[in-house]
Amino acid sequence: MQTDVLIVGQGICGTLLSWWLHKEGKSFMVIDDGAENSSSKIAAGIINPVTGRRYVRTWMAEELSGFAQTTYTELGQYLDAVLLYGRNIIDFFPSPQMRNAFIERISENDTFLRAYPDQNRFNEFFHYDFGCGEIGPAYSVSLQILLSLWQKKLAAMQALHEEKFRIEELQVKEDGVQYGNISAQKIVFCEGILATDNPWFSLLPFSAIKGEALVIECEDLPVDHVFKRGIMLAPLPQKNTFWVGSNYQWEFEDGKPSEQFFTATTNALNRWLKKPYKVIEHKAAVRPATVERRPFVGFHPVFQNVGILNGMGTKGTSLAPFFAHQLAQHIVYNYPLAPEADVKRFSRMLSGRYE
Ligand SMILES: Cc1cc2nc3c(=O)[nH]c(=O)nc-3n(C[C@H](O)[C@H](O)[C@H](O)COP(=O)(O)OP(=O)(O)OC[C@H]3O[C@@H](n4cnc5c(N)ncnc54)[C@H](O)[C@@H]3O)c2cc1C
Repeated sequence: MQTDVLIVGQGICGTLLSWWLHKEGKSFMVIDDGAENSSSKIAAGIINPVTGRRYVRTWMAEELSGFAQTTYTELGQYLDAVLLYGRNIIDFFPSPQMRNAFIERISENDTFLRAYPDQNRFNEFFHYDFGCGEIGPAYSVSLQILLSLWQKKLAAMQALHEEKFRIEELQVKEDGVQYGNISAQKIVFCEGILATDNPWFSLLPFSAIKGEALVIECEDLPVDHVFKRGIMLAPLPQKNTFWVGSNYQWEFEDGKPSEQFFTATTNALNRWLKKPYKVIEHKAAVRPATVERRPFVGFHPVFQNVGILNGMGTKGTSLAPFFAHQLAQHIVYNYPLAPEADVKRFSRMLSGRYE
């Protein structure tokens, strides 16, 4: 069979790239092995415009957040599902120093941060001694629902192979690629952290960051916000269930849930929550992050039909809509890619072994 673009991986990157190609009327085939521990299936799907202990604005925060909001709303309408929830983050300050850092950022006119007027509103649910502030606009996206509904759409469009992609069977030619009986003009790898084994792109400066999360059941907690006190607590679409996490591990033995995280997180919840809760799941995945915290988007400098959309790190929910769109526009109209994201910034590194 003949197709325009072969896409390997249906995490948030492969999903959104195929969505934008679909909108452009391009043909594509997605190959995904359905692994349960992919980053997109474990993530909370939170779009948070600030980061770190000093509440610094994330890269391109305004542009990415607006673009993501439009994309998930439109895609939700297409899939007949609510994917995006406007949920500002209530940040319970763990110390007077953190409260001061927050107030300092407000005094610098950061429009993403504001004092929360009703300081006692959450007394019934949480212990908090140093007050709270509000971060927004922020969103949570139901990534699991999106992935599963898009997978069904792809299957209905006969644009999905549910199997492991075997890289050794790929033939890269001058005018395209051949994989089994699939001939495509281009291939784009959206493999998440498994790209570190990809012969074309493994030299890119990936940084693997493991993260874990619990899913808890807890009655009566408000669902209009995401809550934060060191860890995040975010409402999930199923009634009375919440996502709780995460941590950032640069060194780890395997990608599995750990006893250590479970103990630390349940201890933190016991100190924070006033309501009884039950842990119903414990999950872990490895985030495909990059050393310089910018994504990898575009085509190999030597093999011009072999591309990548990856390196979303801790921010896949906000980065992937924008950069999947940019890559689709590049494929269809040859529009340029943002230089900070274009994988061509590593041309020397990637072409070295072929010179
Ligand atoms: C605990 C945790 C919490 C997070 N929370 C957030 C959050 O709140 N907000 C946010 O923006 N980001 C969050 N992230 C980060 C986010 O999950 C990632 O940035 C994003 O999901 C990466 O998506 P991806 O499509 O690149 O990779 P993945 O989600 O890993 O998808 C890759 C896909 O490719 C498939 N695949 C790979 N190799 C093959 C092969 N050879 N054959 C067939 N299929 C293959 C895999 O099975 C998978 O389906 C979190 C991550 C973790 C771990």
